[in-house]
Amino acid sequence: MSLEPVLDSHVLLRRKVELLAAQQQHLVRLLTLHARGEGPCCYHCGADGMDHEGAFYSPHGDCGIWTCGRCGLSQLRERPLEADVEALEDTNEIYPTDTDRAEDLVAEHGFMIDLVAQHVPEPGRMLEVGCSHGYKLEAARRRGWEVEGVELLPRACAFVREHFGIPVHQGTLDSFIPSGGFDAVVAWHVLEHVPSIQGFLGHVREFLNPGGFLFVQVPSFEVARKLEWDQHPDVFNALHYWFFTKASLGAVLQEQGFRTEQLHIDPHLPFLTAIATLS
Ligand SMILES: [Zn+2]
Repeated sequence: MSLEPVLDSHVLLRRKVELLAAQQQHLVRLLTLHARGEGPCCYHCGADGMDHEGAFYSPHGDCGIWTCGRCGLSQLRERPLEADVEALEDTNEIYPTDTDRAEDLVAEHGFMIDLVAQHVPEPGRMLEVGCSHGYKLEAARRRGWEVEGVELLPRACAFVREHFGIPVHQGTLDSFIPSGGFDAVVAWHVLEHVPSIQGFLGHVREFLNPGGFLFVQVPSFEVARKLEWDQHPDVFNALHYWFFTKASLGAVLQEQGFRTEQLHIDPHLPFLTAIATLS
């Protein structure tokens, strides 16, 4: 089942241009506020009441985490540029390209499709943003989904195309024009990396079909903040711009036009999962 209506590509393109223009205006507003202000201001809402939570060591320099008094989002102040992120991540050994283990990894990622099926029972069209090596997408394809990926890293994109034959857009959502709407959008450990939460969720909102669902997982700041920050570079690193709690993730989803059906912290790992649909 593919939910109607399939989006018109001209409408999508026009909305994308409008979204990108809004992102630019938002960025200019933030830069202006930064230039005027004496202290840091929020990268999300622009408020200047920021509380310092602490800092952690990173090979790219010490990183401070600040929490906005208005929107409640915790965030890094110093951030690497997108080109540096691409170079850093593309050589990151936590994303191995392991052809021999590909079948096992596809099976391991089947949990994601079980989760999706609880909300979208009939296979339709699925997009995974930040699809890495495409194991979840391949697991979905084998269960009847029509799948597509978006991935920043060239090495991972090449693997998805060559090993699985799945279409993948190399880049970010800013430059992605889908061929139609999606019934499920998966963003697993992606939202903490995006420069603009408004921009990211705005793009998803545009191409999620009515009745479709967004599946998000991020590190949980409620859980992780109790850890020794310097001992957990998997959570506390220069590539994680945002640190979400249940309250702040729920708030940004609502603000961007989503209704959250589930929002829960993993009982075993410091992860926070949200399942949302268009409100
Ligand atoms: Zn804020």
